Amino acid sequence: MIQTVRGKIKKEDLGICAAHEHLSIDLSRIKNDPDTILDDEAGMLSELEHFYKAGGRSMIELTNDGMGRDVQRLKRLSEQTNVHIVTCTGFYKDPFIPEFAHGWDRDEFAKHFIDEIENGIGETGILPGIIGEVGTSLNEIKPIEKELIIGAGKASIATGVPVTTHTTLGTMGIEQVDMLFSLRVPKNQIIIGHQDLNTSKEEVLEVLKTGVFIGFDTIGKNNYRPDEERIDFLLDFVSRGFHKQILLSADLTRKSHWKKHGGPGYDIVLKEFIPALIERGVSDEVIQDLLVHNPAHAFSIKERL
Ligand SMILES: [Zn+2]
Repeated sequence: MIQTVRGKIKKEDLGICAAHEHLSIDLSRIKNDPDTILDDEAGMLSELEHFYKAGGRSMIELTNDGMGRDVQRLKRLSEQTNVHIVTCTGFYKDPFIPEFAHGWDRDEFAKHFIDEIENGIGETGILPGIIGEVGTSLNEIKPIEKELIIGAGKASIATGVPVTTHTTLGTMGIEQVDMLFSLRVPKNQIIIGHQDLNTSKEEVLEVLKTGVFIGFDTIGKNNYRPDEERIDFLLDFVSRGFHKQILLSADLTRKSHWKKHGGPGYDIVLKEFIPALIERGVSDEVIQDLLVHNPAHAFSIKERL
C-alpha cells in the first residue's frame, strides 16, 4: 500500500514514478535567492502535465516543513492532473530545520513525525506517505542532523513508513545507513538520496552492498555533474546486479529548472535519460525496474508486527 495525498493506492497502481521531486517549495529563507521559490501554481500544473504526457504517473514530493510544504496545493495538483503525489513528514537538514524544532532530540523528532503520519498534517486530514527528505551536511553529520535521522528511523519503525534521505553531494551515505540499521529499519524501506552526485564509486558501492535503495535523483543537473558520468556509473551498477536498488528522479527546486524558464523539466528522466540508457543497451526489464517496480517496493508502507 502506498499513501498519496488523495488516499491509499495499491503499489501496483503507482506506475512510472519520479522518486525525489519538489513541486511547491521555498528555500529563500536560507538561500536568499528568489530562484529557489516555486509558488506559481498554474506553472506547477503545466510542468506536471508535461511529466504526465511523457508517461509519468506518480511523484514523491519531498518538500517538508521548513522547505515550504503545502499539502493542500499538492492535493489540488493531483486532482487536476491525475498524477499520484506522495507527500512527506520530516525536516531537511541544518540550517533548514524550522525554529520550533531547534534543540529537539531523537524522541521529539520521532513523536512529531509519528503524529503527522497517524493524524495527518495540521488540520488538512492529508497523510504523509514517506519520512523525508531528512539530511546531512557535506562530509559531516551535525549533532541535530544525527538526532533528526535517528528520529526518522524511530518513526519508521513505529509506523512502517519508509525513510528517504538527502545527502550533500552524495557524502555520508553509509553513515546514514548505519544509523538506520542500528534501529533495525528494514533495508527495503531506506532510500539514500543523491548518490548520483558522489563521484567516489567505492562509496556508492558500499551503500549498495547493504541492500538499501539509492537515488539517482539529480538527473539533468549537469552543472553539478554531467549526465554522461551518471550513465557510466549507472551502467556499471546495473552490470553488477544492483538494478533493483536504484530509483530515478530530477529533484527540481528552482524556477530555472522548469521547462517554461528554459530548464530540464520533470520529464527529463523519461525524455532524455531513459532513451540514453536504452541506446547504451539497458534492457526493457531493467528500465521497468528503475521506473516502476523499484519505486513500488521502496515506497510501500509495511505492516509492523
Ligand atoms: Zn530534494
